[in-house]
Amino acid sequence: MSTELDVSERRELRRKARAATLEALRALGGEASRRAISEHALSAGGFTARELNAPPPAVAASKYPRLVDHDLSWTLTNLKREGLVENPRWSTWTLTGVACKATPSLAAEPVDEARLAALSSMPYWLYLRTPEWRRTRAAALVRAGHRCSLDGTHVKSLEVHHRSYERLGKELESDLTVLCRSCHERVHATPQRVGGGRRSLWFLLARRWSRQQQA
Ligand SMILES: [Zn+2]
Ligand SMILES: [Zn+2]
Repeated sequence: MSTELDVSERRELRRKARAATLEALRALGGEASRRAISEHALSAGGFTARELNAPPPAVAASKYPRLVDHDLSWTLTNLKREGLVENPRWSTWTLTGVACKATPSLAAEPVDEARLAALSSMPYWLYLRTPEWRRTRAAALVRAGHRCSLDGTHVKSLEVHHRSYERLGKELESDLTVLCRSCHERVHATPQRVGGGRRSLWFLLARRWSRQQQA
């Protein structure tokens, strides 16, 4: 029997899919194929019969037999965007360092002086493409519990905002705030301090560029 889930059931399924995917990757030694991750997650993820039987979204029905298959697949894509998993080779998915640790710390991988000088002097849009920023960003998301800091019910399209641009490459936890896209845009639309306005335009251009690269 196959019944549609309501909105809160769907949210709960996505939460379980995410936890089960991370747990599967840890259990499989930090690296596995999409299929192996999915099989492990389905058997150990604690999904209810109702969740396992829910039909996929109509637009994705040709690609996924069930909603849970759809959600598990998207979980990997989203975790990759957040810097928690990488997809270094075809069908190979690995946990990044930050996702392996129970309590991620910004100081996990110290950056040497020469690299730090390069990070702090490169254009901001280029800095956003560096592995150092991806790790720092992922750690900030984990610390924030993957929620917007202005409203904890905002859990989609999360971005990590720089409250200060003075320590690029060695940010303090207090330099960063996790915001959803729309709250982030509001923050930049509101002049907070000297220089904020100039940064806003710069930020929007950098983000547009970085989205184009990901598209
Ligand atoms: Zn920002
Ligand atoms: Zn928000």
